[in-house]
Amino acid sequence: MKPRSILVTGGAGFIGSNLCLRLFGEGHHVICLDNCFTGDLRNFGDAYRDMVLSGRFEFIRHDVTEPITIEVDEIYHLACPASPVHYQYNPVKTIKTNVMGTHHMLGLAKRVNARILLASTSEVYGDPHVHPQTEDYWGNVNPIGVRSCYDEGKRVAETLMFDYHRQHDIPIRVARIFNTYGPNMAIDDGRVMSNFICQALRGEPLTVYGEGEQTRSFCYVSDLVDGLCRLMNGDNTGPINLGNDGEITMLELVKAIEDSVGTPLKIVHKPLPQDDPVRRRPDLTKARTLLGYDPKVPLEEGVKQTIQYFRKLLKDWGERPIEAARRTPAHAK
Ligand code: NAD
Ligand code: UDP
Repeated sequence: MKPRSILVTGGAGFIGSNLCLRLFGEGHHVICLDNCFTGDLRNFGDAYRDMVLSGRFEFIRHDVTEPITIEVDEIYHLACPASPVHYQYNPVKTIKTNVMGTHHMLGLAKRVNARILLASTSEVYGDPHVHPQTEDYWGNVNPIGVRSCYDEGKRVAETLMFDYHRQHDIPIRVARIFNTYGPNMAIDDGRVMSNFICQALRGEPLTVYGEGEQTRSFCYVSDLVDGLCRLMNGDNTGPINLGNDGEITMLELVKAIEDSVGTPLKIVHKPLPQDDPVRRRPDLTKARTLLGYDPKVPLEEGVKQTIQYFRKLLKDWGERPIEAARRTPAHAK
């Protein structure tokens, strides 16, 4: 494949850093753009120095709510906090990131004639009445709830993508990403996988929200990144669901983590957050048939890898409490 110049917004975050590493490994010139709200350059580990010295990797600290001019062939637009705890920290900023950020990236794509992929989300289906979720389902989203800065923000971002495509002929790709987990998740991410694993490793009870009967379908990050690359390099605009279609309850997730750590785990029930979807599982027919996408990493293996990653991170973290969304005033703008 001919090396290209590729911009990854949100490139220092969980999925973004895994994507940057893959694209860099394929020989592309990678420009990682991030405001470091939830992302961290340490996600690149020891590879960072060599990547920068190779001249094929650049980091730009920038906020996508501001426009930017830069020469690129492709844009993976991921910038946006993804954990409910993080996106609800500053909801106005979250919707600005989704709407203004996507508008700016589309403006850039138009100016330099770049193909652009939006990291949208299963949250566009809200608390779904259709199960499993197919791409033609329009969703059941509360427009004024605490999740709407994210859900509705992503829905507008999708609208902008398709309007730029129809009106300006911009080559677009829209991925609807379902719950993804794995190495480079932030320790204070606040999502269920990182919470449960960190709690298990610290000998704390696992915080199950509600009865724990709600379901999610968890995708390991390398599978998801593979899907993103297939979508970008294929011929379909999407929207296309990307994830893993193995659906489990939160109590079953506790059991999977228990099996992996090998010791009995205690749980404590906490209130269910507002508008928390009851069931979620992607219909992957489109991804499988149109992209040849096939998520390979079983939950058992993915959980094992993620435990290994958090074990190392917790060693450096020490005894300090893990509190999600303790961010600096700079991120409140
Ligand atoms: P993350 O929070 O780890 O990464 C988001 C990155 O975007 C961070 O590096 C953050 O600093 C950066 N960012 C946030 N606001 C920004 C701004 N205004 N300007 C520049 N950078 C900004 O989250 P993630 O899990 O890696 O998610 C990446 C993308 O994938 C997001 O768009 C998210 O909505 C989407 N997604 C993720 C999941 C999932 O399960 N992880 C599911 C659905 C969709
Ligand atoms: N959840 C939980 N305990 C936690 C964090 C989350 O039981 O410590 C539940 C949450 O209520 C939801 C599911 O796990 O039903 C997935 O939550 P997450 O924040 O990971 O992602 P999302 O709700 O966006 O799918």
